[in-house]
Amino acid sequence: MVLPKASVCPLDCPDTCSLAVGVEDGRVVSVRGSKANPITHGAVCAKVAHSYPEFVHGPGRLRYPLMRNGPKGQGEFVRASWEQALDVVHQRVSAVVQRHGPQAVLPLNYAGPHGMLAGDSMSLRFFHRLGASLLSRDPLCGGIRSAAYSATFGDTPGTPLQQVSQSRLIIVWGNNASVCNLHLMRQINAAKRRGARLVAIDPRRTRVAEQAHLHLPLRPGTDVVLAWAIAVELERLGGLDHAFIGKHVLGFAAFMEAARAYPPERAATICGVPLEDLRTLARWYQDTSPAVIAWGNGLERNQNGGSGLRAIAALPALAGKFGVAGGGLVGGASRAFPKTPDRLTRPDFIPPGTRTLNILDVARLILDEELHPPLKALFIYNHNPLIVHPGQNRMRQALSRDDVFIVGIELAMTDSMRYADVVLPAATHFEYADLYPAYGQQYLQRAEAVIAPVGESLPNTEIFRRLAARFGFNDPAFTASDAELMDAAMNADDPRMQGHRPSRLPLDRALKMEFGGAEPILCKTVWPRTPSGKIELECAALAEQRGGALPHYRPLLARYPLTLITPASDQRITSTFGGLAASDATPALQMHPDDAASRGLKDGERVKVWNDSGEVFLPLQITAVVRPGVVCSEKGAWLRTSPNGQTVSALAPIHKADLADGACFNDARVEVQAG
Ligand code: SF4
Repeated sequence: MVLPKASVCPLDCPDTCSLAVGVEDGRVVSVRGSKANPITHGAVCAKVAHSYPEFVHGPGRLRYPLMRNGPKGQGEFVRASWEQALDVVHQRVSAVVQRHGPQAVLPLNYAGPHGMLAGDSMSLRFFHRLGASLLSRDPLCGGIRSAAYSATFGDTPGTPLQQVSQSRLIIVWGNNASVCNLHLMRQINAAKRRGARLVAIDPRRTRVAEQAHLHLPLRPGTDVVLAWAIAVELERLGGLDHAFIGKHVLGFAAFMEAARAYPPERAATICGVPLEDLRTLARWYQDTSPAVIAWGNGLERNQNGGSGLRAIAALPALAGKFGVAGGGLVGGASRAFPKTPDRLTRPDFIPPGTRTLNILDVARLILDEELHPPLKALFIYNHNPLIVHPGQNRMRQALSRDDVFIVGIELAMTDSMRYADVVLPAATHFEYADLYPAYGQQYLQRAEAVIAPVGESLPNTEIFRRLAARFGFNDPAFTASDAELMDAAMNADDPRMQGHRPSRLPLDRALKMEFGGAEPILCKTVWPRTPSGKIELECAALAEQRGGALPHYRPLLARYPLTLITPASDQRITSTFGGLAASDATPALQMHPDDAASRGLKDGERVKVWNDSGEVFLPLQITAVVRPGVVCSEKGAWLRTSPNGQTVSALAPIHKADLADGACFNDARVEVQAG
């Protein structure tokens, strides 16, 4: 008999859907959406609905600890007991610490599961106490957007997703919502039924762009120029809200001075969009209220990414679109929750002077013979760096080093796990309890385990509890239960928790975050939390960063003619599900007919895509979905989908963005020929 059980999707996606999981004989047999979370309202994406039972119970699932018995990367392992595996980890890591000091150890973790416990709780307590090097992981994705938001608005939430349905004009900017932000579409459709206009700004004619009243297919990396030009056109039309600006905005004059260097005529050429469409957008934005911008992650992934986001964030402030439900900017959702990271991860354990390493530099640093102390032990968990990081070939070289001891903690034998010395089997989120704030909507959820851990797998929290015991860490912080960790993750006394202890949150409904009993409306119910208390278009705190206090634009100089963008797929969440047969096809390379014709390429043929960093072989799809000069292939495919073992990450550059030292995937420049 199938029993329905409540759960939550933990994947790296803004939506954080509530789930109804069918369980029979201790196995997950179906995954559907539930209505516990009113935002996600019973719908989930196809990839989760179709993939999870096989992902949890299929042959690819890791069930036992493994130890490598062949060359790194070959995937030759033998089964071990937990005792044996933990002994080896303890011996090898202790030897590294003894020889090089604890900072020779690095946790290389990212955002596999988004639950607060599995994400990073006991794990960071362990690494902080060990004295391992600290990892700045945000630069890989989302860090630029987060830094741009914080610089402009401070630690305050933006427009909640549900208010989009009240908007009269919705600008979806660099957000492939029908694939990456499914439940934004529901809000958009509700608004459209009430007569709202939809504008999409994206180099590709995505599904949301097809449904839009206006689509601006701008060149990647030119968002800052487009936003400036809209500001200049608003000024020309008399569309600046000087009363709002005077009261709530800092840096107006300096921002506009920079923007005026890019009037619409010039911007249209740089961005590659029709001048009339740019002007139409500015006019609609002036005339319509509430008007909301919903940005995505794609537009941050270039060297002007921080500037683009900051200039876009300035538009609702300049045009006075805040202060009303359904207006402003959908963003800052993660700031809606009363998180208490200091209690959860215990940074007080960190030895003074411990270094912090940028996740994007890890491969280079592993290969750096001058680094002191060197990196000699890695714990890879919640992450598949070989597939996800820019500079894939360098990462492969780094993970291949025999003098670097690698512990992997994973659900499946990913490409990265094949380089581990010891692999510890992790439980899926169906097998442990966790707490789920979202980063795309403002509801808090909790889930319990719906099945027992498969095989000998263990939740991340228990794995690090056992590691802490092995290393002799006897502070009570290392024996905290999962319920205690949940209670350490959020401030139960905050009014937003409505009297609930985090570990006792109801399972059948999500808790809406409210401020003084109301939804956030910036400059009405919540306020900028910047140093000035205003919306900062010029941000003194960024003066020392590469980007500077004001947005700026630098054209990318490159010797290869085509821009390769690598968005998310409707088959995988980054690289999760990549090991499943349904997600294992080689992604196509999309190319505009004009670019294909000038190269004599034919639809369906295999092509070689290359630059100085690597070469990838992909089937060609000729389509006007992409604009001329841009080619597109989905990220996240595993190495076995590629004849030469290189995927699109091999082509991604390793330089960094103007903010948060973030990744610039979409600055990849390539050439394409018949392969
Ligand atoms: S991946 Fe996103 S859209 Fe799909 S079920 Fe999970 S949270 Fe929902």
